[in-house]
Amino acid sequence: MKTCTMMCLVLLLLASCAAWISGKEPGPDTNPHYVANREPLNENPFVLLPLGSVKAEGWLHEMLIRQKNGATGQLDKLYPLVMGENNGWLGGDGDQWERGPYWIHGLITLAYLLEDQELINKTTPWVEWILGSQKPNGYFGPDKDYPNMPGVQRNNSADWWPRMVVLKILQQYYSATGDARVIDFMRNYFRYQLETLPGTPLDNWTFWARYRGGDNLMAVYWLYNITGDKFLLELAETIHEQTFDYTGRFLETGLIRNLENIHCVNLAQGIKEPAIYYQQSRDYKYIESIKQAFADIKKYSGQPQGMFGGDEALRNNIPTNGVELCSVVELMFSLENIVAITGEVPFADHLERIAYNALPAQVTDDFMERQYFQQANQVNVTREDRNFSLNHGGTDICFGLLTGYPCCTSNMHQGWPLYVQNLWYATPDGGLAAVLFAPSRVTARAGEGTEVTITEDTNYPFEENIRFHFSMDGSSASFPFRLRIPEWCSTATVTINGEVYSKPSGNQVINIEREWNNNDLVELSIPADIQLNRWHENSVSVDLGSINFVLKIEEEWKKVINTRDPEVFGSHYHEVTAASPWNYGLVDVPEDEIKNHYRIIRETDPASFPWNPENAPVRIEAKARKINDWKLYYGSAGPLPYSIQWGQKVGEEEETITLIPYGCSTLRISEFLRVGRYSVME
Ligand SMILES: [Zn+2]
Repeated sequence: MKTCTMMCLVLLLLASCAAWISGKEPGPDTNPHYVANREPLNENPFVLLPLGSVKAEGWLHEMLIRQKNGATGQLDKLYPLVMGENNGWLGGDGDQWERGPYWIHGLITLAYLLEDQELINKTTPWVEWILGSQKPNGYFGPDKDYPNMPGVQRNNSADWWPRMVVLKILQQYYSATGDARVIDFMRNYFRYQLETLPGTPLDNWTFWARYRGGDNLMAVYWLYNITGDKFLLELAETIHEQTFDYTGRFLETGLIRNLENIHCVNLAQGIKEPAIYYQQSRDYKYIESIKQAFADIKKYSGQPQGMFGGDEALRNNIPTNGVELCSVVELMFSLENIVAITGEVPFADHLERIAYNALPAQVTDDFMERQYFQQANQVNVTREDRNFSLNHGGTDICFGLLTGYPCCTSNMHQGWPLYVQNLWYATPDGGLAAVLFAPSRVTARAGEGTEVTITEDTNYPFEENIRFHFSMDGSSASFPFRLRIPEWCSTATVTINGEVYSKPSGNQVINIEREWNNNDLVELSIPADIQLNRWHENSVSVDLGSINFVLKIEEEWKKVINTRDPEVFGSHYHEVTAASPWNYGLVDVPEDEIKNHYRIIRETDPASFPWNPENAPVRIEAKARKINDWKLYYGSAGPLPYSIQWGQKVGEEEETITLIPYGCSTLRISEFLRVGRYSVME
C-alpha cells in the first residue's frame, strides 16, 4: 500500500513536470485575453503581450531614450545612402535588400514602446509602401534588380529573406495598432508562398533564406493563431522542410564541434528554428537539439559574455575571436522565442547574460557608434588587421557607424526594444509572469479580465532585490503570478506584504496563485555568489549572477577623421587604447575561500546610465600579479598563457585590481589566467 502511494506520488510528480515542460499545465486551454497558440499547436507556457503592454523604467528606459536620440531615431539622416527615401522598400532604386527592414523592425518596436509620435511617423511611409506594394498574386516589395553600386545592395530584390524581416515589422505594427489590413496582406502573401515555394525554394536567390526560415515560420504560426486558416499549417511544413536542418545537425554535433561550418549570424538566428517548429511537431527532440547546440557552442566557441567566437564563420573559443553585433541581437531574439515556447529557466538565464554583458558593451553610450566585432579580451581598439577570418581595412573593432560592415548598423536597433517587450508574459491560465528581470512596468488583463499594473522596482541586474507593486482597477483579483528563479541562485526568498512566503531553490518558475489586492507588494531576493567559470586554456571568468566582471582598464578615446576611405567606413570613427596595464593574472585561491579574497562594492546611489567604467554600479576587488611576457600580438591581447603554469614568471608585487561589469567596459580582460603557488617572482 505504502509502495503504491509512493509510486502514485512519483507518477503524479512526473506527470506535472512533463506537463510543465510541454506547456500543458492544468487549467483553461488558452489565455482568455491574449492571442495564444491555437490547436493543434503546442500550448506554450508564456504568451507574448501586445507591443506597448510592457514599459521600461529606470536605467532600461534611459537606454530607449538614448536609442531615440541616437542612431535609431535618426538613421535616415546618418546613413542616407541606404536609409534615405530611395530605399527599395520605399519604392526607390536604392537598397533593395535587408538593411531598410532591419532598421524599421527596431525603430517601430521602439516607437510604440515609447508611444513616440515622431518616431511612429518615421515608420509610416515604410509600412504604407509595403502594404501598398502587394500584387494580386500576393507578392510584395521590390521586384526589380539594379546594377551594382558601392555600399548598396541592389540585387536579389525578390529574395525570400528580407521579406521575413518585413513580416516581423508587420506583426509589431499590427500588435500595436490592430490595423486589419495586415491580416489580409499576410494571408495573401502566405498563399503566394504556398504556391510558389515548391518551384522556387527558400534558397532560390541566396542561401540566407534557407538558414533563416525559422523567422518565416514564426510569422506563419502568428497568423494561424489569429485566423485559424488551415493552409498555414501546410505552408509551415513546407518552410520547415526547406529550412536548413538545424535539428539533425545539432544532434549529430559535427556542425558546431568541427567549427567554421556555419555563418555566425545564421547560427544565432537559426538556433530557434527547432523550437519554432516544435510548436507544431510537439516532439521534444527539437528542444533537445537546441540544448545540445548550446552546450557545444559554449564548450568549443563560448565566451563569458554569453556569446561565441564567430567573426563570419563560427570560430574556436580563443577570447580574442570576434563576436558580431548582429549575432548578439539575433541570439537574444532567438532566446526570447525559445523562453516563451519552453518556459525553461536556463534559456532565460542565458538571455539575461547576453543582454547585460555583450549588448551594452558593443555600442557607444550615446547609441551613435558600434563595433562590428567585440572581443572578450579586448585591450586595444585601433584600426589595424587582427586574426579574424576577414579584415575590413582593419576597422572591424573600431567604434563607428560604418566600420567593419554595415549590417550591424542596420540591425542593432532591435536589441533593447524586443528585450523590453519580452520581460513579461501572459500565461495560458490567465496569469502574468515576470521572466526576465529589469526595471519595468506591465499593464495587462489577468484573471477574469481585471486590468492589472505591476511595477517592477529594482536596479537589477546590479541589485539582488526586486519589488513588485500591484495595482488594479477593482480592489482585488485572483490570478496566478509566476516568477523565474535563476539557476545561479541557490536559495531565493519571496515575501508578500512583508511576510516570508517561500524560499525556493534556483532553476524553476514558481507560481503564486491567490487573490491579489490593490497595493500588494511582492519582494523577490535572488542573492548570487561569486563563481569562477572555466574557459580557454584553463582560464577563469569572474561571475556574479548574470554579470561577468572584467578587469577595469583606463580607456583613452580618440576620434579619428577618416580621410583614407570615408565612403566605405564612414567619415570618422573612434579608437580606444589602454592607459593602464592589462596583463594581469588572478592570484589563485581555494574555491571555499573565494568570498574572503574577492570584495564586492556596491554604489549606494547608482547613476541613471550604468554602462560605462565611471558609472559601474558594482565593482569587485581582487588580487592579481602582472604577467610581464603577456603582450599585444597582431593588434590584440596575445595568446592567453596557460593557467596555472608551474614555474611561470610573474610580477613581484601582489596588486589589488578592480573588476567592473563587462557591459560597463570597452577595454577588458574577461578570461583571466591564474597564477598559483608554483609561480616564480620576477
Ligand atoms: Zn552585422
